[in-house]
Amino acid sequence: MLGTFVEVVSDESSASEIVFSEIKRIEGLLNKYDPQSEISRLNRYGSLAVSPETLYIIEKAKYFWQASSGAFDITVGPLLDLWGFSDKKYRKPTQAEVNRALRLVGSDKIILDKNNNSVKLKLPGMKLDLGAIAKGYAVDCAVKRLRGQGIKNCLINAGGDIYCLGDNSGKPWRVAVQDPRKRGPLGNLKLENVAVATSGDYAQYFIKDKRRYSHIINPKTGYPADSGVTSATAVASDCLTSDALVTIIVVLGKQGAEKLLDQFPDVKTWIIEKERDNA
Ligand code: AMP
Ligand code: MG
Repeated sequence: MLGTFVEVVSDESSASEIVFSEIKRIEGLLNKYDPQSEISRLNRYGSLAVSPETLYIIEKAKYFWQASSGAFDITVGPLLDLWGFSDKKYRKPTQAEVNRALRLVGSDKIILDKNNNSVKLKLPGMKLDLGAIAKGYAVDCAVKRLRGQGIKNCLINAGGDIYCLGDNSGKPWRVAVQDPRKRGPLGNLKLENVAVATSGDYAQYFIKDKRRYSHIINPKTGYPADSGVTSATAVASDCLTSDALVTIIVVLGKQGAEKLLDQFPDVKTWIIEKERDNA
C-alpha cells in the first residue's frame, strides 16, 4: 500500500483490519499511482474541488515548504518523472530538461481556496507528489482509528514511517535503525506512544558513473539531494511531522537543517552522513 509495504504488529486481532482499511481510504485520496485518486485528478485537470483532508495535507505540505525555505516541495512531480523515479526507468536527464522541469516547481504556484475546498495548479504540466508526507499522515489516521476502537497496543510500519502505540507485552517497542550502506541494524530505539520515521538515499536510487542518485530531490537544483546525509531518523509525537522532517534533513544536510530543527524542540533526530567521496 502507498507504494510500499505496510506492517502491523499487535496482539489484538482486529488491529490489522482497522489499519489496512484506513490506509486504503487515504490511498484513495493521495496516491498518484491510482488514476482515480484526488491527487491524480488534480494533476490531470490542473484544478479540483477536493476533500477537506486532501486540502489539509496540501496545506501542511505548504507549511513545511515555507519552514524549510523550499527544501520540502510537493511540486517536484515533474522532476521525479524526468529522473525515472515515477516509472522506475531511471535515467540522467540533460541540464536543459532539468531547467524545463524546474519551471514547474514551486509550492507558491499551488493556490488553495478554503472557501470552496479547491486547489489550483498555476501552470499547465505541474504535478503534485505527496510521497514524502502521505505515509506519515496515513499512519497518524490509522492510529486515531485504533484509539477510537479501544486498541491499546500496536506497531504500524508503513515503509519506514512508524508509530508505536502503547507497548509490546509490557515492554517498549523496539525499532531498529538500518545501516544505510550495509545490511543489518545500526542500533535499536525503545519507543512508546511516539512516531519514528527514517529517510535516506539507500531506499530508492540508481548509480551512474560511480555517483548515487536517490529519489529525494533538491527542488532548488532539480538534482537528487547531495547533502551528504545518507540516513535521517526522527522521533516525534506524530508521524506526519517525523516523515516530513526526515525528508527535509536529507535535502538540507545536517547543518542546513539545524535551524529548522530548533523549531521542533521535542523532536529527536539521528543523522548519518556519508564518508567523503563514497557513493
Ligand atoms: P520519503 O521516503 O518520506 O523521504 O519520501 C521520498 C518521496 O518524497 C519521493 O519518493 C518523492 O515522492 C517525494 N519527494 C522527493 N523529493 C522531495 C522534496 N524535496 N520534497 C517533497 N517531496 C519529495
Ligand atoms: Mg518523508
